Amino acid sequence: PEVYRSEGSLTLGDIFIAVKTTKRFHQSRMELLLDTWISQVSEQTYIFTDEEDGALKSRMGGHVIFTNCSAEHSHLALSCKMAAEFDAFLASGLSWFCHLDDDNYLNPRALLKLLSSYAETWDVYLGKPSLNRPIWASETLPNNQTKPVHFWFATGGAGFCISRELARKMVPWASGRNFLSTSELIRLPDDCTVGYIIECKVGGQLIPNTLFHSHLENLQLIPTSQLVQQVTLSYGVFENKLNVIELSGPFSPQEDPSRFRSLHCHLYPDTSWCLQAVGW
Ligand code: UDP
Ligand code: MN
Repeated sequence: PEVYRSEGSLTLGDIFIAVKTTKRFHQSRMELLLDTWISQVSEQTYIFTDEEDGALKSRMGGHVIFTNCSAEHSHLALSCKMAAEFDAFLASGLSWFCHLDDDNYLNPRALLKLLSSYAETWDVYLGKPSLNRPIWASETLPNNQTKPVHFWFATGGAGFCISRELARKMVPWASGRNFLSTSELIRLPDDCTVGYIIECKVGGQLIPNTLFHSHLENLQLIPTSQLVQQVTLSYGVFENKLNVIELSGPFSPQEDPSRFRSLHCHLYPDTSWCLQAVGW
């Protein structure tokens, strides 16, 4: 791994990277991330999952955090993991919290460049807006009445980052058991709950950023020449078709269906298995 230092004084060592996963994706998704981008930032990266796994632990050691959250795709199970990520970040004392899904590729250099233009002492919430308008929700009040609320939120599937100062202000709603109870107030998923806490409770604002990408947008539209600037990328299914970035090689779509191995070679051409792939 390289030592990354941009013009400012921020280094990758100041960033806490949380990856959310679940038992059934340890092999199919996490191995790919460990072989690629996580290899560059393993000191900074923590994996949040719902089942102990010797193979994962042998590669990431104490950086695998077993959450005790249920392995369901329910709002509560996912909010339970987000709460664990948030609490681990607070305990780390680091300057920035970045959340990722296990189908995201994170480019550490692009992330460092982006975060270097903000200060951890500001209220910063950066990501890709999930919708092109604020979401409306109905908040349950203590007297069991409801009140309409609206807010922007960053889609969790594209990754997002929060400064320490903003995270500090979120504590009453986001730390420990509070995240789950807040999430129940609006009965929406974890990433919506983060936006709700920041915009409706703390009074902060999402800063939309076009360098974060999920598989809910057409990833083929990102020009190959601009892949190096992107902070996050993804792969998955969109409108019933495989949705991946456009990259010709060095691996074929059969060898590398997600295109993440080819992307990694594009960003880190000196990697040994990239040199082998191009026949050196
Ligand atoms: N996930 C999870 N528990 C589950 C299902 C999914 O923690 O029961 C995680 C998964 O590992 C990923 C994120 O939630 O990091 C989103 O899951 P997925 O990509 O399968 O769904 P989608 O992007 O379609 O919401
Ligand atoms: Mn996904």
